[in-house]
Amino acid sequence: MEPTSAVCTDFASCQARALRAHELLCAEYGAPFRFFSIKDPLSELISALLSHRTRNQESHRAYQQLRTDFPTWEEVRDAPTAAVEQAISACTWPEQKAPRIQAVLREISTRCGGPCDLSFLAEKPIPEARAWLESISGVGPKTSAATLLFSSLRLPAMPVDSHHHRVAQRLGLIGPKVGEGPAHKLLAALLPPEWDAQQVYDHHEALMFHGQKCCYFHSPACGRCVVLDQCPFGQARLGKPAAQNPA
Ligand code: SF4
Repeated sequence: MEPTSAVCTDFASCQARALRAHELLCAEYGAPFRFFSIKDPLSELISALLSHRTRNQESHRAYQQLRTDFPTWEEVRDAPTAAVEQAISACTWPEQKAPRIQAVLREISTRCGGPCDLSFLAEKPIPEARAWLESISGVGPKTSAATLLFSSLRLPAMPVDSHHHRVAQRLGLIGPKVGEGPAHKLLAALLPPEWDAQQVYDHHEALMFHGQKCCYFHSPACGRCVVLDQCPFGQARLGKPAAQNPA
């Protein structure tokens, strides 16, 4: 049976462990990382909805085809759903994503009183901007954070994907039963509030890269892991004494 992580016992030790892991993983994977997108926030939102449980390459193909077939978001909103489904067939569950994307676009048009590019979200405090997005059916914390951080808005909101979530759990930054959705608030609270978008992005990317390149779902490579000293899960796997909370 896989060992379980010892969750940090208090907020200060959790924060210290998160920041030490940040430092080590940023050094390991070469931060600062370049932002991969310059999409406007509405385009980033749709892209994030397409990417749910889909490989990057496939969701990129679906996004490109959608933009080719329907050059404006109003055209996507008003198109026959079957045509949207066909355009995004490269991603997983196009039959669910097509009507959801159209419903999101309709909801945004209704709230904005017409076409709207979401750039007004830059004027809101981040929690308000996130709440605005998450009150749209089908938009969760990962999508709202991705919209604010990855888009041209470049706001310091942190998404937590499955790799990031797994690494954080094994490091004991969150409990073993905390799901990806609730993890957003808990993990964001560990970051210094003055961090800018680049620092938040680096944190997310560093933990995500670590999940992809070392802390695999099956058989994590703990023996060559740069955060082994911080990781109770890895130490238990290797039969070492449990990680101490950092000073
Ligand atoms: S020590 Fe192992 S379980 Fe812990 S972060 Fe590293 S690879 Fe993952």
